[in-house]
Amino acid sequence: KIVVDQIAAGEVIERPASVVKELVENSIDAGSGKISVYIEEGGRKSIIVSDNGSGIYPDDVGLAFRRHATSKIQSVDDLLLTRTLGFRGEALSSISSVSHVRLRSRTRDLETGVEYSVSPGQEGILTDWTGSPGTTIEVRDLFHNLPVRLKFLKSASTEQSQIQETITLLALGHPEVQFHLSVNGRTSLALSTRDDRRLRLLDLYPGLEEKDLSRAVLEGEGIRVEALVLTPEKNRKDRKYQNVFLNRRWIRHPGLLQAISQGAAGRVHKDVHPGAWIWIEMVPDKVDVNVHPTKREVRFLETDRLFSLVRRVVSEGLDSFLN
Ligand code: ADP
Ligand code: MG
Repeated sequence: KIVVDQIAAGEVIERPASVVKELVENSIDAGSGKISVYIEEGGRKSIIVSDNGSGIYPDDVGLAFRRHATSKIQSVDDLLLTRTLGFRGEALSSISSVSHVRLRSRTRDLETGVEYSVSPGQEGILTDWTGSPGTTIEVRDLFHNLPVRLKFLKSASTEQSQIQETITLLALGHPEVQFHLSVNGRTSLALSTRDDRRLRLLDLYPGLEEKDLSRAVLEGEGIRVEALVLTPEKNRKDRKYQNVFLNRRWIRHPGLLQAISQGAAGRVHKDVHPGAWIWIEMVPDKVDVNVHPTKREVRFLETDRLFSLVRRVVSEGLDSFLN
């Protein structure tokens, strides 16, 4: 079993930032209002993710670490219609095949929660635990049993900035959730609840001001596209300011980035990429998010209509910088 899990881990858990992504997504799925992340040595030594979400029932803890165990879908239809961030049931089993994991969790309706400790190739140990409702998962010595994977990791500061970027993108999809990131004992990100994406974005990019962003929204059958478009003066040569979210999940989609560029055609300098954050809300049956285990690549059914909405929303956003 451990070998199969390690192979799966090869796809899902590439580096410390992948652990952070999976654990924070689980916390979001659990309805958490506050999520705290603590990392040491770029996440290689330890990653702790703590939330105030639903918690896990004692009877379900062992199961949560089993491969393909997910509480989020019941059937193949659910798999296509999923609204939660996770649904493949691979993260916890993968992570625990390449690190030491300790989980502490309590549901609101039980007085006593559980602690579960597990290491690669060993039976997990379950004990009682009393603490406040929610879940805390500690991941120690990532890849200690996979020296080759360990060798491919970059410096602690590079891994750390990947983690920061991962949390940034999750936070942009979920402005209502409070996020906290602590690096080697120091706070490096503290985000309060926002009811507005623009405010969350400004929290995350201190170099931007309110007047640098213009909002535009377009709606079609089963699709809603909201854009915060950046003033052309602040465009960058890299694509840091070009991000697309589908149903709150950050996705990689070259076609959509191209649609952003087309929407800005003739209005931005040719050496830079037009800045735009695009949030697409779409009925789940028009999109396949299950193309890749990390769910960052997706396939759309009505590509042309979506691209055209994105082009128009960017163009509309840019209009407001004309005067
Ligand atoms: P998936 O997210 O695809 O369902 P995971 O391996 O990430 O699979 O998690 C397995 C299960 O463990 C989840 O379906 C969920 O029931 C439970 N779980 C994991 N993390 C949390 C958490 N922070 N709060 C509540 N439940 C959790
Ligand atoms: Mg998950």
